Amino acid sequence: MPAYEYRCDDCNETFTVIASMSEKEKGLQVVCKICGSSNVRQVYSSISVGAKNKDLPIIGGGCSCGGAC
Ligand SMILES: [Zn+2]
Repeated sequence: MPAYEYRCDDCNETFTVIASMSEKEKGLQVVCKICGSSNVRQVYSSISVGAKNKDLPIIGGGCSCGGAC
């Protein structure tokens, strides 16, 4: 089953919710596992991590030539 990461706007904690695709499509009622608030939003961690990794060589090395220039 896929896992979804959520962040609570009230306590700023992140937590993982495991739900099936059909549950998600029906409109999953997610509440914070820490404080019980329904003021939560989904975090697309895999996408943001991927973008961050992509940026790293540009910031660190200055170019993407692998040290040839
Ligand atoms: Zn919370």
